[in-house]
Amino acid sequence: MHEYPITLRIVEIANQQAEGVGARVSGIDLVVGDDSGFIGESIQMYFDIIAEGTPCEGAALSIERVRPQLKCAACGTYFVRKPFSFACPQCGGDGYPTEIGKEFYVKSVELTTEG
Ligand SMILES: [Zn+2]
Repeated sequence: MHEYPITLRIVEIANQQAEGVGARVSGIDLVVGDDSGFIGESIQMYFDIIAEGTPCEGAALSIERVRPQLKCAACGTYFVRKPFSFACPQCGGDGYPTEIGKEFYVKSVELTTEG
């Protein structure tokens, strides 16, 4: 369960932003690629525990999943591969892995001064 330290880091980042302006965190948008090695459900579970008693408590964690894409070696097309296939939909050439789908970052932090 290696999501714990990364979730702790996310909460720290959001709390720093909130405390800097005397606000609370109302929402966090996270981008998680399917090949990032992190599982959204686990992050959500840890988030609820770690956020308790901090400006992040009660914040809505929104996780945007990114499906991995391959790039065709022959024609350069980016595509989401079908199960059991690496073939390019345009030309049938072999696709190779790209950085798309390995994303993991905080896209935005929403703050509120209400409450
Ligand atoms: Zn191709």
